[in-house]
Amino acid sequence: MANAPTIPILDGHNDTLLRLLRAGREADDGFLDGDGAGHIDLPRTRAGGLAGGFFAVFVPPGSAADDGVRVGGPSLDVEITDGGYEVPLSPPIDGDYARRATLAMVARLFRLEERSAGRLRVVRTVDELVTTVEGGALAVILHLEGAEAIDPELDALEVFYRAGLRSLGPVWSRPNAFGHGVPFRFPASPDTGPGLTAAGRDLVRACNRLGILVDLSHLNERGFWDVAALSTAPLVASHSAAHAICPSTRNLTDRQLHAIKESDGLVGMNFEVSALRPDGFDEPETPLDVLVRQVDYLVARLGIERVGFGSDFDGATMPRAIGDAAGLPRLLAALRAHGYDDAALRQLAHENWLRVLRQTWRE
Ligand SMILES: [Zn+2]
Repeated sequence: MANAPTIPILDGHNDTLLRLLRAGREADDGFLDGDGAGHIDLPRTRAGGLAGGFFAVFVPPGSAADDGVRVGGPSLDVEITDGGYEVPLSPPIDGDYARRATLAMVARLFRLEERSAGRLRVVRTVDELVTTVEGGALAVILHLEGAEAIDPELDALEVFYRAGLRSLGPVWSRPNAFGHGVPFRFPASPDTGPGLTAAGRDLVRACNRLGILVDLSHLNERGFWDVAALSTAPLVASHSAAHAICPSTRNLTDRQLHAIKESDGLVGMNFEVSALRPDGFDEPETPLDVLVRQVDYLVARLGIERVGFGSDFDGATMPRAIGDAAGLPRLLAALRAHGYDDAALRQLAHENWLRVLRQTWRE
């Protein structure tokens, strides 16, 4: 990745697969040719230096009785509170429905890969990731955001792993067989309830055995500590930020950041404006300074070797100053103006993610 004209970025999180599912089959050509929808399409990844990233499979709410897959959003009922907000925890979803929805999105990704004729590649090893980026194609890492599609016997995990799954968050912000997700609340502690179940602990052990990254984003604090006590891999939160600056339940306390540092893990800084701002507002006119301040704080706590990006493109409100994938160079420019040199920017942009994947994946 050394010779690219701009610094290539590996990104910890996007919800583009759900966006494409909602938009219907014809959206695949729009993605490949650049229809400008959402935050990511192939031409904009090239324009912005987005070389690869974790593409999440997030299962929208729905039930076993549904025909096909519901493609509505997670319709969150935000209640404004004194000085903040609170979203009631989303209800659990049915496993059969989750598997159907997950298969639909994973299959969609493989069809998109085929249709891309080499311009997009699902990668399963670090070598594949590096050669894909060096060859100028978009490297896609398959991630499950919430493990509802996995049965407690973990049969589906084995199959999804062979299909290419290399990263998994045991929970999204709702309960499932493996643990309890963190509800969205501000200002509030991430310590919101019980942690992993026995099945959740088995899931973490199986991910360690297979070499699947266990993502801590969306776990509550007890779940975080349960993973920290068990996992043999570096601790990673793919799209989170610092609680000391933005006290949202989704963010990481200093104690959690310390544990991530001790494990030689990584935090992918979320670009979701409400996860970054000290006031928690969902305000697109959030200046890049707010992101720079979060990076500064994460770097001070974790070290420059353990901070990366986890945009949440296609899944959250982005700062208008970035806008979409094509705007990534503006973030790098703001960091450079603030004193981060090219070596530091390369670490933040991709080297740290590569190092963690080398330590986590089996090959
Ligand atoms: Zn998320």
